[in-house]
Amino acid sequence: MSFRIVLIEDEEEIARMVTYFLKKEGLEVQYFLSAEEFLDRLSALTLPDLILLDLMLPGIDGIELFRYLKRDTRFQEVPVIMLTAKDDPVDVVLGLELGAEDYITKPFDLRELLARIRVVKRRTETWERNRDTSRLYRMGDLLLNGDELTLRMGEETVYLSFREFKILELLLRHPKRVFSRAQILDRVWGEESFVSDRIVDVYITNLRKKMGKYANAIVTVRGVGYRFEPYE
Ligand code: CA
Repeated sequence: MSFRIVLIEDEEEIARMVTYFLKKEGLEVQYFLSAEEFLDRLSALTLPDLILLDLMLPGIDGIELFRYLKRDTRFQEVPVIMLTAKDDPVDVVLGLELGAEDYITKPFDLRELLARIRVVKRRTETWERNRDTSRLYRMGDLLLNGDELTLRMGEETVYLSFREFKILELLLRHPKRVFSRAQILDRVWGEESFVSDRIVDVYITNLRKKMGKYANAIVTVRGVGYRFEPYE
């Protein structure tokens, strides 16, 4: 089964380089140099498995295009990884609030990009994998699965983004321990921790939404950060 990626990136050199690299890795890539160019071809386009979307585009910008795609029933469910510049953290937060899957900051390492793509790809693949149980965390009704990036809550299973998983993993592994936003940034974002603390809150909010009735397991510790509260 081929994995189809649409890349929307106005810097042709980057677009070509990324396309070349990903094709070499066996992925199908089609790039567009503007949102307009992409929109012109939209109706004829085979639905991709993933969209890589540069946020800083001339004309219609990435966020605007993303909003548009979220209203399109065909594209609603297609995961989007945002490509962003270091000095543009506001757009990243907005994009994540709108439901983007992940983001990667330019200049990025192509292997890092590939790793993020693989997270998304793994989910769409149906083949049987060997079950590696080393990254399973169980707590009461909750089962966090690091291979599938899923959280099972009783009968229900939700998909997590890579960073949502990392945050939940951190909290679950140390129940009751309080982590400050700075600590979470450091553990989950590492080298990229120039992003604002606010991004942690955005992720926690999204996680809680996904966790539904279990949302209260992530407790806000006012003025400090968050902790995981095990329940009986
Ligand atoms: Ca750009």
